Amino acid sequence: MIITMKKSAPKQEIDALMGRLSSKGLQIHSSIGENYNVFGLVGDTSVIDPKQIEANPFVESVVRVAAPYKKANRLFHPEDSIIEAGGIKIGGQEKLVIIGGPCSIEGREATVQIAKAVKQSGGCMLRGGAYKPRTSPYAFQGLGTEGILAMVEARKQTGLPIVSELMSADKLDEFVEYVDMIQIGARNMQNFDLLKAVGKVNKPVLLKRGLANTIEEWIMAAEYIMAEGNENVVFCERGIRTFEPYTRNTLDLSVIPIIKEKTHLPIIIDPSHATGDWKLVEAMSLAAIAAGADGLIIEVHENPECSWSDGAQSLKPKKFQELIEKGRVIAHVIGREIA
Ligand code: PEP
Ligand code: MN
Repeated sequence: MIITMKKSAPKQEIDALMGRLSSKGLQIHSSIGENYNVFGLVGDTSVIDPKQIEANPFVESVVRVAAPYKKANRLFHPEDSIIEAGGIKIGGQEKLVIIGGPCSIEGREATVQIAKAVKQSGGCMLRGGAYKPRTSPYAFQGLGTEGILAMVEARKQTGLPIVSELMSADKLDEFVEYVDMIQIGARNMQNFDLLKAVGKVNKPVLLKRGLANTIEEWIMAAEYIMAEGNENVVFCERGIRTFEPYTRNTLDLSVIPIIKEKTHLPIIIDPSHATGDWKLVEAMSLAAIAAGADGLIIEVHENPECSWSDGAQSLKPKKFQELIEKGRVIAHVIGREIA
């Protein structure tokens, strides 16, 4: 971290600030120039809030040179982390994971049926929401425990591991017992108590990017989970809010190489919530594979017109299968394979 203080800063102000910083265990290298006093801080600056230092009227600027995250940082962990969920490996040079399933779980029979279709189409994991974060309190809120148990039955009949969204820490025990990967939804990406709670358990976490969060905020959310001891985090980009109304969100594929450069964790793409339109899902999926994603999570429904939520962005199993077949070709071009 580099702090520049104004030339007009009185010596006692400089000494007071530097004294406070060195009491936090930081080494300070000073360089006094014609117009500015520049101080380089060496050590663990993650405990310091640059904005707070900028509140000092004698401070000209504060620039962070090291990222504020440690556990997720590739600098301290050069090898790719491979995260295991229900026997499936995600990340590194492992095969790409294609996760499919309905937006909302709609009962036991429908879940078993769609799970069989996902498997037959080439998917290797089942998604489905039993606790739904709906914009309207009057919209369907999910089947709750009954939905989770429907997924458990589908896993039993197909062997597909299951991923589902946890909205509240009071259901954590249920998720630890039944699901293979816990999803933290976009709307909860900065629910810090929830992040800390999943950080205390030994289950992989699928961490979706918030609707309007920066990449650094997203990595810091992963850091919250990892700082509690659970280092099994998989990022999921699902589009961000922009001014564009032709798509539900704007899919930011540049995050794939950025997340891989900055962190050692895997990243998968959700083209369904990113576009909101089934017609765009295949193109964005192929682009995501080409850009190096470690997998995809896609909404699949037997009868999207009658789906209980997000029908407009759901693929029928046949389309899902076609997408996977095309995805295999693209994966091959970049030296990877689909599981
Ligand atoms: C979902 O995957 O069901 C979901 C609600 O996604 P997001 O949190 O990305 O909106
Ligand atoms: Mn959905």
